[in-house]
Order: sequence, then structure tokens, then C-alpha cells
Amino acid sequence: MKKLANKVALVTGGSRGIGAAIVQRLASEGASVAFTYTSDSSAEKASAIVADIQASGGRALAIKADSRQPEAVTGAVKATVNEFGGLDILVSNAGIFFAKDVSELSVSDYDEMMDINVKAVYVAALEAIKYLKQGSRIITIGSNMGDTAIMPQTLLYTMSKSALQGFTRALARDLGPKGISVTLVQPGPTTTDMNPDNTEFSDFLRSRMAMPEYGTAENIGALVAFLAGEESKYITGSFITADSGFNA
Ligand code: NDP
Repeated sequence: MKKLANKVALVTGGSRGIGAAIVQRLASEGASVAFTYTSDSSAEKASAIVADIQASGGRALAIKADSRQPEAVTGAVKATVNEFGGLDILVSNAGIFFAKDVSELSVSDYDEMMDINVKAVYVAALEAIKYLKQGSRIITIGSNMGDTAIMPQTLLYTMSKSALQGFTRALARDLGPKGISVTLVQPGPTTTDMNPDNTEFSDFLRSRMAMPEYGTAENIGALVAFLAGEESKYITGSFITADSGFNA
């Protein structure tokens, strides 16, 4: 039997990049997988992912839900439960990055970054907790920048990813007695639309790594699949950093 057979997962931001690799990996391990996306331009990609999973005999559902809107996030959890009859694995992955000089930052920049990178993670967890049972998992995608401020102009992103560390520690304490684990995956530079590996900036990032090579979305998908499975049951309240030694 596949490792995640009979499990239901919801992945936020699953149309592209790391989220799409997580969706595909969890489905290949046997989970029924719902995922969100937000832009109209990603609707076709989302449908193609669903079709691929169904063609391999799996179950998948794409949900258009903007993480900036708490009711959309709550609705995505409910839609997953309605479609697949429960929820075992919540992966909050949707996130944005922008860099701006501190002198130009505004309150609306703060709201934009925090609404998507932090508040939506909190809202999804609160709704998911209503359905998660013994053995369930809450896995969040943070960043190695949650540990290290690597350069100027990243105040809001760094702050948002550090906030996820407190979220993970404290929620693990709340949910431990129910047998639900809470973990944080902290990728380093991983080649996606957000952080392509063929730019001047990527050369700078590689120069900071112990092994100067970008990660792939599939590397992170494999790590999330491990955390979602039975073999990780001793791990909760922890951060797992996969960054080619960037923070070493
Ligand atoms: P991409 O920009 O490649 O993909 C982002 C995904 O999130 C897309 O599926 C996108 O949906 C979705 N998304 C963005 N905004 C929203 C929103 N408001 N509501 C719902 N979905 C949304 O990013 P990555 O795959 O690179 O990043 C995924 C996660 O990994 C993020 O949390 C990021 O911070 C983190 N990370 C990435 C690193 C990297 O080097 N790539 C390094 C460390 C952490 P749509 O297609 O509709 O736009």
C-alpha cells in the first residue's frame, strides 16, 4: 500500500513551483490532494495538474482561493473536506516575496506580506483543526531567511518567515496532546518563478552556500512527503532547513 493511501491533503499555492511539486509528490504517495491557486493565468496549469493526477488513478481538486481573503482560505479547507470526506495533512505553502528599501516600505506593504505569508497560515490552521485527528500533520513552508537576515531590503519577508517559527513552536504545544504534529520546512534558494537559478542574484545566493547549487521544488516535495508520513511521527515543533548549507 502507498505510504499516504487514505490520507487527504490540502496544499495552498499548488499551481506552480514548490507547491506544485508538493501536490504531485503527495498524490504519488497515494494521498487525495486539494490545492489552491489565485491568479487567472494559473487556472490552466491547475487543471493540468488535476488531470495528470487523475490520469494516474489519483484524486485531486483545484480551488481558486486568494490567501489574502480569510474567508477564501476557510472555504478551501471546507471544500477539501466536502470533496474528500476529511483532512489529514495541511500544507501552507502559498507565499510572496518582494524586496524594498526600508525607507519606501508602507503599512500596505506590511499587510500584503503578512496577510499571505502569515495570516493565511493561521486562518487555515484554525479551520483545519476542526477536522484533523490523531496522526494528522500541519506543515508550513517558511524560509531559511526566517533564521538569517541575508541582505538589506528583506525586512518584511524575513519578518514573515520568522513569525512562522513562533507559530510552529506554539501550535505544536497546543496540538501535541491530540497527536497532531506541527512542523516548518525552511527551504533555501530553490529554482522557481520566485527565485530562478540563472540570474546575477542567483550567483550571489550560490556564493553563500556550502554546496553551491540551487534546490529543486522536488527536493522540497520529498521532504514534505516525509513529514506527512508515519515515519516522521517523532518530529513536532521543529524546523527543517534545506538550503544547501546557506545558513551553515
Ligand atoms: P512561486 O512564486 O513560484 O509560486 C507561488 C505559489 O503561491 C503559486 O502557486 C501562487 O499561485 C501561490 N500564491 C501566491 N500568492 C497567493 C495568494 N494570494 N493566494 C493563493 N495562492 C497564492 O513561489 P515558490 O514556489 O518559490 O514559493 C513557495 C513557498 O516557498 C513560499 O512560501 C516561499 O516563500 C517559500 N520559499 C521559496 C524559496 C525559493 O527560493 N523559491 C526559498 C524559501 C522559501 P498562482 O499561480 O495563482 O499565482
